[in-house]
Amino acid sequence: MVSKRLGLNTICTHVGEIKDEQFKGAVSPIYLSSSYEFLDVDVKRYPRYFNTPNQDYLSKKVAALENTEAAMIFGSGMAAISHMFLAFLQKGDHLVVQNTLYGGTVNFIKEEFHKYGIEYTFTNGYKVEDFEEAIQKNTKLIHIESPSNPLLTVTDIKAIADLGKSKGILTSIDNTFASPVNQNPIDLGIDMVMHSATKYFGGHSDICAGAVASSQQYINRIWNVSKNLGGSLSDMTVWMLERSMKTLGLRVKAQTKNAMKLAKWLNKHPKVNKVYYPGLKSHPEYELSKSQMKGFGAMLSFELTEDLDAYEFQKSLHLIKSSMSLAGVESTVISPHLTSHALLTSDERQQVGISDQLLRFSVGIEDVKDLKRDINIAIDKISK
Ligand SMILES: *Cc1c(COP(=O)(O)O)cnc(C)c1O
Repeated sequence: MVSKRLGLNTICTHVGEIKDEQFKGAVSPIYLSSSYEFLDVDVKRYPRYFNTPNQDYLSKKVAALENTEAAMIFGSGMAAISHMFLAFLQKGDHLVVQNTLYGGTVNFIKEEFHKYGIEYTFTNGYKVEDFEEAIQKNTKLIHIESPSNPLLTVTDIKAIADLGKSKGILTSIDNTFASPVNQNPIDLGIDMVMHSATKYFGGHSDICAGAVASSQQYINRIWNVSKNLGGSLSDMTVWMLERSMKTLGLRVKAQTKNAMKLAKWLNKHPKVNKVYYPGLKSHPEYELSKSQMKGFGAMLSFELTEDLDAYEFQKSLHLIKSSMSLAGVESTVISPHLTSHALLTSDERQQVGISDQLLRFSVGIEDVKDLKRDINIAIDKISK
């Protein structure tokens, strides 16, 4: 039987297009109205209701990519994650959340949850036993991130989904690092998938957006909260995001291929101590990654040898930019010890495995030979 599911690049290019009935243009028109007909209409449209034509149609592309019934587009990844959490957690409820997590998500939980009376436990590790151990009577949601930032730990997605199902607890995942090109957690049984669309969906470092994909029932629950919190995305940016997503498959596959080559090369480099990448056989979850991912992704981290200064290294790169964000078509690096983990002491960082020599590398679409050359020139320059 022929699969009804469209291919990745066909979804990226076509699903969720708005037909230009009036002028027959090739691409979706932008509908900028913030006011729509109210009387005798099936849908009452309003930007904060997440249902303008552009919002509505782009969410179909996201849903098709994650193989869900429905999706919503948000003004940022944090809007997506916070609205999702607040839709399923209320006063007295408990969240089990992975210890290795995007910094903004950690801040949201630590700074805001107590105001709502929501309880939480960060796991002691990323193994399924660590999650099981953290579950309490009032646990309503388990949230994971895989691969995680910045050490690319990989969580057993199906095992977490099964754990949630066996206990009647919902499960959600931050799928930003893998993107739907490399990983579809819904197919492994996870209930809700969220993305910072600022990253691979946008892909050109010029859009801030987010997305959640799930069943229609759960999206309705999120919508009920989101219409009150109001984190929707402007239609101008929704349209830019649609344009970006047409090349999501092409971009991320090219970036993933480059990352694999660079991970192998760095792994043998005399000035590199260690490489963290799920596609290397030396990664502790290599077999698991192979079984649950379609590709190993385009994010990796590596440690320079002790004699090299990571700060000087970044300053000596020409092509590869030192940049906070990630997932653009251009390659970027960042020192976690100077950014996401700057508030910890050096000892605390060592405990979570983040050395001052560690660099997170978001691999772009450039030619690998030029990236290697850039790295070698920088290393030569700072070697004494
Ligand atoms: C960037 C990021 C977020 C937050 O997204 P914003 O668009 O910056 O709000 C969440 N999770 C991960 C893994 C990210 O990289």
